[in-house]
Amino acid sequence: KSAKWSPKENESKRLPIYQHKSKLIQAVKDSSFLVVTGETGSGKTTQLPQYLREAGFCKDGKIGITQPRRVAAITVAQRVAQEMQCTLGKEVGYQVRFDDCTSQDTVVKYMTDGCLLREVLADPALSQYSVIILDEVHERSLNTDILLGLIKKVFTNPAKATKGRSFPLKVVVMSATLETDKLSAFLSNCPVFAIPGRTFPVTCTFGSAVGPKDLENFTPSALQVVKVALDIHTSEMAGDILVFLTGQSEIEHACDMLFEKAECIDYRYDVTDQSVDGLLILPLYGSMPTDQQRQIFQPPPPGIRKCVVATNIAATSLTIDGIKYIVDSGFVKQLNHNSRVGMDILEVVPISKSEAQQRAGRAGRTSAGKCFRIYTKEFWEKCMPEYTIPEIQRTSLTAVILTLKCLGIHDVIRFPYLDCPEERFILEALKQLYQFDAIDRRGNVTKLGELMVEFPLHPGLTRALLKAASLGCQDLLLPVAAMLSVENIFIRPGHPDKQKEADKKHRALAAKTGSMNDFATLLNVFQSCKSSDRPSAWCKENWIHWRALKSAFSVETQLRDILHRLQQKKDFPVETFDGNKSELFRRCLCTGYFTNVARRSIGKVFCTMDGHGSMVHIHPSSSLFDQEAELNWVIFHDVLATSRVYIRTVCPIRYEWVKDLLPKLHEVDAYELSSVARE
Ligand code: ADP
Ligand code: MG
Repeated sequence: KSAKWSPKENESKRLPIYQHKSKLIQAVKDSSFLVVTGETGSGKTTQLPQYLREAGFCKDGKIGITQPRRVAAITVAQRVAQEMQCTLGKEVGYQVRFDDCTSQDTVVKYMTDGCLLREVLADPALSQYSVIILDEVHERSLNTDILLGLIKKVFTNPAKATKGRSFPLKVVVMSATLETDKLSAFLSNCPVFAIPGRTFPVTCTFGSAVGPKDLENFTPSALQVVKVALDIHTSEMAGDILVFLTGQSEIEHACDMLFEKAECIDYRYDVTDQSVDGLLILPLYGSMPTDQQRQIFQPPPPGIRKCVVATNIAATSLTIDGIKYIVDSGFVKQLNHNSRVGMDILEVVPISKSEAQQRAGRAGRTSAGKCFRIYTKEFWEKCMPEYTIPEIQRTSLTAVILTLKCLGIHDVIRFPYLDCPEERFILEALKQLYQFDAIDRRGNVTKLGELMVEFPLHPGLTRALLKAASLGCQDLLLPVAAMLSVENIFIRPGHPDKQKEADKKHRALAAKTGSMNDFATLLNVFQSCKSSDRPSAWCKENWIHWRALKSAFSVETQLRDILHRLQQKKDFPVETFDGNKSELFRRCLCTGYFTNVARRSIGKVFCTMDGHGSMVHIHPSSSLFDQEAELNWVIFHDVLATSRVYIRTVCPIRYEWVKDLLPKLHEVDAYELSSVARE
């Protein structure tokens, strides 16, 4: 009998959740809502959907499991497909933005929370599903929070819950941390199922590399963590290392340094009885190719120590077995809505104390572990907040508010939020929707707004795309929208000589457009590669990520399909352009980016025109960097804050093109837009 068990099966039987299998199934049967909590790694994400499938929950519908991060949705689905011994995309599948790996046969579907939110738009009753599992709720991502509110609004109301459904929906909410009372109270005091954890003590030590004075400019990160990681490698007992850093470039940089330095270690020096020799260095971040991500989970060869250098993704979404040592940089890269600047800014900020504890906990899953914090005790006390602020309270709400409006939820201020966003954030979102013509003065969704909600893009970009489509020149904007939706088109090698070579190629690509304009460069890269006979070779030669470009091709096709479908509608807008044809592209961009206009004030400093008058600089990655003297007015795609506030993906414009649009920024009082909601 035991011969029939695959090793995988035995492995999953050792997880803490396994002992509670039948009770858990019963708990789901007994109640429409259930909160499940348990330490990261206890088996919630991978096992519970399988238990429910075995118990027959897939008879009438699918089991849908949401994840805040796309990497988690993909890797977990891969793992579960493997455990169930089926092909990914058959019984078990995943769907993330622009990548659908499901089929008619899919009954266990992992997806991002954003994907489920789009499904709610098309089918508010979620009639295809028998069970919805909202996972990683403790991460408090914007879309998960909105889904929680929607589920509360619809499914805790007996009159609404059965509408459009032939059988009741089961909702399971899973969280790693103990905010469960709050969650239970939010969902009509539903039962809570706690999976007792098995954790081992983790000893934490503070370092001296980062103190309160480093708060402003956190650059020495990579070097500091590399030093600590190498110290661990040469002086600590066997066990793998997990390093937390802020983002892709920092991680790649740290890995390069680790490679160089680890090669110089004299491994004859035997440190412990369980000596470890070489170091296996593995990066881990969201936009990494998935086949490379899979390596992270494999145990290292005997006598080799694994060192994973990761973003926050490894804190809760993914569990890596065998980790005994943590190196914590104390920082995270976060998209924050900055009301001083009036924009969403990507910035590096200190993590919260609870986040730091979560990171440390990753070392204590299988035995006692150690966590090395590179920051001082003083930094911990003075610079790190107690808890992480939920995303809904710190990012732009424009896209979700439009979604809510399209779902017929007019009163977006009194929507059941688990934690309310600040009212001014909601007002700002309404104002922006009005500026993009997505809602009218009474706060009602316009025809254009109904078209806009169909695109999984930033509303500004969608606005520009729809403008282009109405003028019949969508071929200019579709590639740009696709290119802006994938990460890391341009390769930035860590090595200075190679960097020079790459820069030269990238500048040449920009020059070929004949107009200094980063959007045009994106279009040029897309078209040149697409028309090349050997696109992968073309990419290699031009220091472009071939994989990223391939996804951009696929994204473009999908956006084209959405647009094509909408254009079949009889009231799709049609306009004519009476300006200069060479301006067409930039004029379209202005329709979506007039909220992001800046004017040069002095030297290299630009001043935003959105009423905030923030001082910004052009990012060195732009082809307009160092050309500032020739510029006057520009629009930009996004903002990054390090030691300065930088604008990225920049395009020069003429004042006349935005002259008529700019007053729109101040035309309406946001309170007026919400007045219907407040009646
Ligand atoms: P939880 O959701 O409670 O945090 P998971 O179900 O994610 O727990 O993880 C359970 C176990 O499955 C862990 O030991 C983890 O290492 C393993 N696991 C999860 N995903 C993968 C994967 N893609 N490859 C290998 N092992 C995995
Ligand atoms: Mg999980």
